[in-house]
Amino acid sequence: MSASVIDFLATEARFGAHNYDPIGVVLSRGEAVWVWDTEGNRYLDCLSAYSAVNQGHCHPKILAAMVEQAHRLTLTSRAFHNDQLALFYQEIAALTGSHKVLPMNSGAEAVESAIKSVRKWGYEVKGVPDGHAAIIVCADNFHGRTLGIVGFSTDPESRTHFGPFAPGFKIIPFGDAAALEQAITPNTVAFLVEPIQGEAGVIIPPAGYFTEVRELCTANNLMLVLDEIQTGLGRTGKLLAEQHEGIEADVTLLGKALSGGFYPVSAVLSNNDVLGTLRPGQHGSTFGGNPLACAVARAAMRVLVEEGMIENAAKQGARFLEGLKDIRANTIREVRGRGLMLAVELHPEAGRARRYCEALQGKGILAKDTHEHTIRIAPPLVITSDQVDWALERFAAILTQDFS
Ligand SMILES: *Cc1c(COP(=O)(O)O)cnc(C)c1O
Repeated sequence: MSASVIDFLATEARFGAHNYDPIGVVLSRGEAVWVWDTEGNRYLDCLSAYSAVNQGHCHPKILAAMVEQAHRLTLTSRAFHNDQLALFYQEIAALTGSHKVLPMNSGAEAVESAIKSVRKWGYEVKGVPDGHAAIIVCADNFHGRTLGIVGFSTDPESRTHFGPFAPGFKIIPFGDAAALEQAITPNTVAFLVEPIQGEAGVIIPPAGYFTEVRELCTANNLMLVLDEIQTGLGRTGKLLAEQHEGIEADVTLLGKALSGGFYPVSAVLSNNDVLGTLRPGQHGSTFGGNPLACAVARAAMRVLVEEGMIENAAKQGARFLEGLKDIRANTIREVRGRGLMLAVELHPEAGRARRYCEALQGKGILAKDTHEHTIRIAPPLVITSDQVDWALERFAAILTQDFS
C-alpha cells in the first residue's frame, strides 16, 4: 500500500463515524463495469453500489443529462413546478405501468413514505380505527436504516440500542404464505416485502409464494407493497422482479438504480388510490422531485431500456449462474441467483466470506460479503460474456482455496 492510501484510511478512521467496515481499497474512477483505485489498479465491480449502478459507472448519457440539467436548474422545491417533474412522472408511469408516483430521494425515504401512505389509506379508505393500522413484514428483511424501519428489523446489529421503536408491525417468516394468512387481521393495511431478500443473502422464495401472497392481499383488502429498491430496474433480468412471479404489487418502491448511481432518487409507485390519500401539506421532501433528480432518472431509465440492459442481465446472469454452479469446490454450500443478482453461500467451516472477498480483490474483483458466509455478486448490467468468463476464472481460483 502506498502512503497516500494509508492516509485515506487513517484520515477516515480518525474523523469518520465507524458505521462501515470497507474493504481496503480506495477508488477514484469508474467506467462501465470497471473501477480503478488511487494506484491505478483496475477491478471488476461485482457489487455495483448495492445495485445502484446497474447502468454501469459514469454512463455517458446519464452524465450528459446531469451536466446539462445542472447548468439550467437544479432545485426549485415543490413550492413551484419545474419542467422536468411531469416528464419524469410520464416516463416512469409508462415504464412501470403505474398510475401514481411520489418522488423521494433515498430508498429508506421511499419505504417510510409507503408506510405513511398505506396507513392513511387504511384509515381513510379501508376504515381501520385510528391508531390501529398494522403492517406485516418479514423476518430478515432489509428496508433501510431509519428509526421507523429498523424498528421492524430482526437483525440485532440494526436494532440494538436504537429504541424505543414505533408499534404497528408484525413479523412473519419470509416465503411462508400460511404465516401471512394467519397474521392478517381486519386492521392489517399492508404486507411489505422484498421480492428477493437482498441483504439477507439473495434469498429467493419458493415458487408460487407470491401468487398466494397476491391472492391473500386481494382477498383481505390489504396493500401488497413490494420493495424493489434492489431487485428492480433490470437487476433480476426483468424490469421488476414481480414479473418473474406473474403478479402486480399495489405499491412498488424504487430507488438505487433509478438514478444510475449519480444522485439519490427514489419513488413510491402505486396502482390504486393509496397515494391519492395524500393532500397538500401532509407529506413532502425539499429535494424530492427536483429537476436535477428528474433529468438524471429519466436518462437512467432510458438507457436501461434503449441499450438492452434488462435482456443482458437475464442472459449474462444465466451464464454467470451456470459458471458458478460448475465450480467444483468443497467451500461452496450453495449457489443461487436470478438475473445478475447472485450469491455464493460458503460452508460455515470454509471461513468467513470476508476473507474470500479480500482474496478476490487481489485478483481484480470487488465483491461484498453479507451475513458471514455469503458472497454477493451483482455486477453492472452492461457486463459482457467475456467479462463474465474472466470473472468466473477468478472466482474458481479463489473458491477452490480454503481460508478457514
Ligand atoms: C438499499 C435498500 C433500501 C434502502 O435504500 P437507501 O437508499 O440506502 O436508503 C431499502 N430496501 C432495499 C431492499 C434495499 O436494498
